[in-house]
Amino acid sequence: MKPLRTPAALVAAGLAPPEQLAALEQVAARYAVSLTPDVISLIHSDDKHSGELADPIARQFVPDPAELDARPEERADPIGDDAHSPVEGIVHRYPDRVLLKLVHICPVYCRFCFRRESVGPGHRRWLSRAALVRALDYIRARPQIWEVILTGGDPLVLSPRRLREVVHALERIEHVKIVRVHTRVPVVAPARVTSEVARAIKARGKATYVVLHANHPRELSARARAACARIIDAGIPMLSQSVLLRGVNDDPDTLAALMRTLVENRIKPYYLHHGDLAPGTSHLRTTIPQGQSLVRALHGRLSGLCQPTYVLDIPGGHGKSPIGPCYLQRVPTTEEEARFEIEDFNGVRHPYPPVRQDDS
Ligand code: SF4
Repeated sequence: MKPLRTPAALVAAGLAPPEQLAALEQVAARYAVSLTPDVISLIHSDDKHSGELADPIARQFVPDPAELDARPEERADPIGDDAHSPVEGIVHRYPDRVLLKLVHICPVYCRFCFRRESVGPGHRRWLSRAALVRALDYIRARPQIWEVILTGGDPLVLSPRRLREVVHALERIEHVKIVRVHTRVPVVAPARVTSEVARAIKARGKATYVVLHANHPRELSARARAACARIIDAGIPMLSQSVLLRGVNDDPDTLAALMRTLVENRIKPYYLHHGDLAPGTSHLRTTIPQGQSLVRALHGRLSGLCQPTYVLDIPGGHGKSPIGPCYLQRVPTTEEEARFEIEDFNGVRHPYPPVRQDDS
């Protein structure tokens, strides 16, 4: 099986209705399209609603005419990477860490991608060698940079030799203690994750973490689980990040199954992202109250190991903040005093000893 990269190929494969071809050509002219054989094999093409695929894997990767509807509140650069990019390839938003964007391509193109305006074959594919040297010089010159996050695009499209070169350069920067790799490759192209790749990204004398992007439990196929095991067995801890997506994982059972499947495979759920304001993605976004109610439904029902932090990347580049429900309330009892009430996992509130109103 070959990757599918055009609307015509998707129609021919039965993954898009022929009557949508013209609209999907317009979508594809604006945003990259690619489904790998592994992703295609996960799609249940008989899962249809009103003639359109409702399958949660298809919704993430098969383009939709709704993507032509960009809303006024949506932005080309929703999390403000550009505002924090002092040199090409670097995003320096928080004092102690930087993103190092090595590539601008991915094996798949997610329909909700927050970097959809800057990834894909229509853009420069790699950071050039000269730009990489400048980016490493930037990191080397700033002792406050403790962590470097390799991202893109998807850095695991690079060859093991190229990955090793970059990680080796970071190993030689004394103040960099953590190398973090953000990737979707273990679920969408697991055969790329060879033992050689795992060895290449393991930084000697530092800690390496791999953060897997996965949104539905079915993405953790046997091949994906084996790919993750190759990383973890090489001594690299794995975390996950997931995006809350309408029609994909916006129900408690699916989210619970996703988080449990990750933990069963030694991957600690880290972030559950609220959908970013990327152009043409409103049909995939939930509301924040819906997200909070889903997170509340997981509270107590799942082990703490399975609980990610629900976060929002503040539009404009102001960083992430947790936006999960608050279980603690301060209730005034007199003018001077108040007590806390804390909600348990059954929704029952319990008092906590009084505090003075001026206590912080
Ligand atoms: S893998 Fe990440 S960078 Fe690539 S299209 Fe998906 S969300 Fe965007």
